[in-house]
Amino acid sequence: MQQQVIVIGGGPAGMMAAIAAASCGETTLLLEKNEKLGKKLFITGKGRCNLTNDCDQDTFLKNVVHHAQFMYSSISRFDHTRLMDFITDQGCRLKVERGHRVFPVSDKSSDIIKAFERGLGRYGVEVRLNTPVESIVTECGKAVGVKLENEQVIRGEKIIVATGGLSYRSTGSDGWGLKTARRLGHDIVPCRPSLVGLKTKENWPQKVQGIALKNVEVTLVHRKKKLRTERGEMLLTHFGVSGPLILTDSAYMDRPASEYHLILDFKPALTEKQLDQRIQREIRANENKQIVHAVASLLPKKLIPVLLDLADVDQLKKANQITKGERQRMIGALKHQVLTIEDFCDINTAIVTSGGVNVKEINPKTMASKKIEHLYFAGEILDVDALTGGFNIQIAATTGYVAGMRS
Ligand SMILES: Cc1cc2nc3c(=O)[nH]c(=O)nc-3n(C[C@H](O)[C@H](O)[C@H](O)COP(=O)(O)OP(=O)(O)OC[C@H]3O[C@@H](n4cnc5c(N)ncnc54)[C@H](O)[C@@H]3O)c2cc1C
Repeated sequence: MQQQVIVIGGGPAGMMAAIAAASCGETTLLLEKNEKLGKKLFITGKGRCNLTNDCDQDTFLKNVVHHAQFMYSSISRFDHTRLMDFITDQGCRLKVERGHRVFPVSDKSSDIIKAFERGLGRYGVEVRLNTPVESIVTECGKAVGVKLENEQVIRGEKIIVATGGLSYRSTGSDGWGLKTARRLGHDIVPCRPSLVGLKTKENWPQKVQGIALKNVEVTLVHRKKKLRTERGEMLLTHFGVSGPLILTDSAYMDRPASEYHLILDFKPALTEKQLDQRIQREIRANENKQIVHAVASLLPKKLIPVLLDLADVDQLKKANQITKGERQRMIGALKHQVLTIEDFCDINTAIVTSGGVNVKEINPKTMASKKIEHLYFAGEILDVDALTGGFNIQIAATTGYVAGMRS
């Protein structure tokens, strides 16, 4: 029997849910409060939309930081190949870049949104824009419809909430769905920013803000426990640190962020002994220069005086007067630079929200609520989040798809 399916939220999760429901022959209504669909999708991947990741299932699950197990069954039903085929079938060609990241050939996120819109049209989904849902109507523990801000009630047999997390609120994800889920009796795992910059107690990064460091090694430490070490790129900023390595670290942290610190190794390819030999070589070759100029090739130019300061070495001292102790302090500053985390940057600036509707209360095969009949959740509103690389949109599309399908 045909059902009336109501999907709240026109991001990737909601659009995919609506398309899946309509493809099963349901009468499907997609309600979006913004004047257009996919406002957040538009800014993804720096405007290019890293749609998904062309990797095997194990790799996908390894990149899901919280509740990978919950995704196990749904990703088997709708993985990246299904999403890529769907988008391609709607006329948007895709390409795979470094790290198996998938983008539209045009490098325009708007083409991904157009592909979703074409799918919605093709399957006959009714889309209502400028339509904020105010509440979900329940009767005897069952979801039976939605109430709009203009007081109108629309009844439906299946209600799918895909209203996103808490970041970039201007795109529409303002936490309405989370509040609503709580009001309906769902446990909400406290939300925090993920894939976000980190504020540091030390203010030296501020002095050299804008410098991008390549091939550095960062170790994330919680209290005294080393959690992870990775080499790559990071950015020094006006608030502390950001860039790929730091965004990833933020995903593995929790509140309070002040219990964490980072250890930076600016020269991970060299042992302490090798670095000492290198510094001595530079000193011999530039013995009459001031140390700040003598070791200029070691780091980006602006960083050298800051590092010497951190090592408590007078930058104006002549290279040939540098003592062994001073060299040792320089090596310490280069290989064990500690940055104390003060806090995450604001959740509004985060790429993704960690936390959300507790997945213990959701059926992983269908995304149905175990608390309220006929109610479903999909996308970032769930307490599932992943690293960068296209995994978060894939989570949205996958959970949206299974939520929309007839169970
Ligand atoms: C800057 C940035 C870059 C990113 N880049 C990538 C990337 O390249 N690859 C990747 O995988 N992920 C990326 N992400 C993450 C990804 O965009 C999100 O995880 C994904 O959009 C979540 O999809 P969603 O459908 O669950 O929620 P959203 O995309 O947030 O959509 C939710 C929708 O619900 C609507 N809504 C909310 N409340 C109501 C209501 N009461 N009534 C009606 N409608 C409502 C909102 O207006 C919104 O349109 C990025 C995120 C950001 C912020």
